[in-house]
Amino acid sequence: MNTASVDEKILERFRRLWASGRMGHAYLLVGPKEAGKTETALAVAKLVNCESSATKPCTECPSCRKIESGNHPDVMILQEEEGSIKIDQIRFLLGRLQLKAFEAKTKVFIIRHVETMTLEAANSLLKTLEEPASHTLMILTTAVPEANLDTIRSRCHVVKFFPSSRRRLQEVLGKAQPMAQFLAVYSDGCLGQARQLAQEDFIRRKNQILDGFLHKSHEDFFKKSSSQKEEAVEALHIFLSIIRDAILLKTGVPADELMHTDRLADVRSLAGRSFEDLSAIYEQVVNTKELLDENLNAKMAFSILRQKIWDN
Ligand SMILES: [Zn+2]
Repeated sequence: MNTASVDEKILERFRRLWASGRMGHAYLLVGPKEAGKTETALAVAKLVNCESSATKPCTECPSCRKIESGNHPDVMILQEEEGSIKIDQIRFLLGRLQLKAFEAKTKVFIIRHVETMTLEAANSLLKTLEEPASHTLMILTTAVPEANLDTIRSRCHVVKFFPSSRRRLQEVLGKAQPMAQFLAVYSDGCLGQARQLAQEDFIRRKNQILDGFLHKSHEDFFKKSSSQKEEAVEALHIFLSIIRDAILLKTGVPADELMHTDRLADVRSLAGRSFEDLSAIYEQVVNTKELLDENLNAKMAFSILRQKIWDN
């Protein structure tokens, strides 16, 4: 059963690109099966051809309806036949590319499972990606990020999709976006756990914990933490996740892909520290947790951690 659906967040990104005239000619959508890559590609095809003056795609105008039913003459989906995408298929596509659009503002070619292209097919596509035709949009998809697609990748804008499980989880949880994102990532895609955390008022607790670690005004936090093992382990786990966010942000991961999108000011402030500094904190968190796991006194470890966080 195909349960994939449009990734609204990614569609919104395309909407902004289109509205500001910054849409590229070729995109490579990378993400796991059923993450909604093809559905989103079709939504983008609707977007660039929609006739409505309201929010695009409207899904109701003749153009949107034709794309939805697979009957739009200028929107073409291509995928492997008998295991691979062959050069004849690409030639056919390139032929269509040369033709004037029947009715579209922008012709859209969607090539699914682009990793199955034969070498010949890939080579003949490359030239088109290099010298794009006007009013034409190519959207390629793959679920195999490690596939040998370097030459194609370098000629496309790459768009990453998350597993649908995490996205669905966010929808089901129905919380404000950053909260749902945090719960979905923290529970590692497990709906049961995420729901339980949502009920337990977990977000409030995790923010209290982060305040304790990051804001000096919560002076007694460290004292309390070091005396109660279970709570201390949870606190360290949560604190580790914001350190991880800071390191990811420093390495160029976009802010909206982080776990603590509701604490971006803190993540940014942490990311302002050096890598050495962050990894020292990280290690001290791990050390402290090990002491707790072995039921050893972690008071000293907590106080070292405190120094590492604040005395800089
Ligand atoms: Zn429309």
